[in-house]
Amino acid sequence: STANDDLRGLIRTIPDFPKPGIMFRDITTLLLDPAGFACSVERIVEGVDGPVDLVAGIEARGFIFAAPVALALGAGVLLVRKDGKLPGATIAEDYALEYGTDRIAIHADAFAPGARVLLIDDLIATGGTARAAVRLLRKAGAQVTHAAFVIDLPELGGADALRAEGIEVATLVP
Ligand code: 5GP
Repeated sequence: STANDDLRGLIRTIPDFPKPGIMFRDITTLLLDPAGFACSVERIVEGVDGPVDLVAGIEARGFIFAAPVALALGAGVLLVRKDGKLPGATIAEDYALEYGTDRIAIHADAFAPGARVLLIDDLIATGGTARAAVRLLRKAGAQVTHAAFVIDLPELGGADALRAEGIEVATLVP
């Protein structure tokens, strides 16, 4: 399978997106590469050492990785969406952005208390998004034991903050 360096080479950095000074890691190029995409999914699956009932993907790029990982693990897919997108009764959680706040939601009846959940997103930076997802899932009764991200920006400390909350965190590309 594709080596770690190759995965990194399939992700490009686009300067000044979405605003000046931001170096945006673009995974669309990884998704366009069948071997690279397959490898990233395999790596995430291999890193999961315990039973998982549901794979929770964070909108929108997290969905892309969550679905094939869930199929490989024999788990269901749980959508963690921006507030206002889910049709049924929801539980929501707010989190701070650089300016203002955002809100994510899940269906209130998505799982029974105790469900074992693996959380997935394409990238972890400050961890603000992932930690809000963990608070939301735990509020709804889930056991969030594992989290996986294709890209880690370790200098921003998000992965370590999740580990401090008792979550086993796997990342593929620093
Ligand atoms: P955090 O909340 O950890 O600071 O930011 C992570 C969230 O923002 C993730 O949902 C991720 O998709 C998105 N994100 C932030 N920066 C980037 C980036 O450079 N590339 C990509 N693909 N996503 C990013």
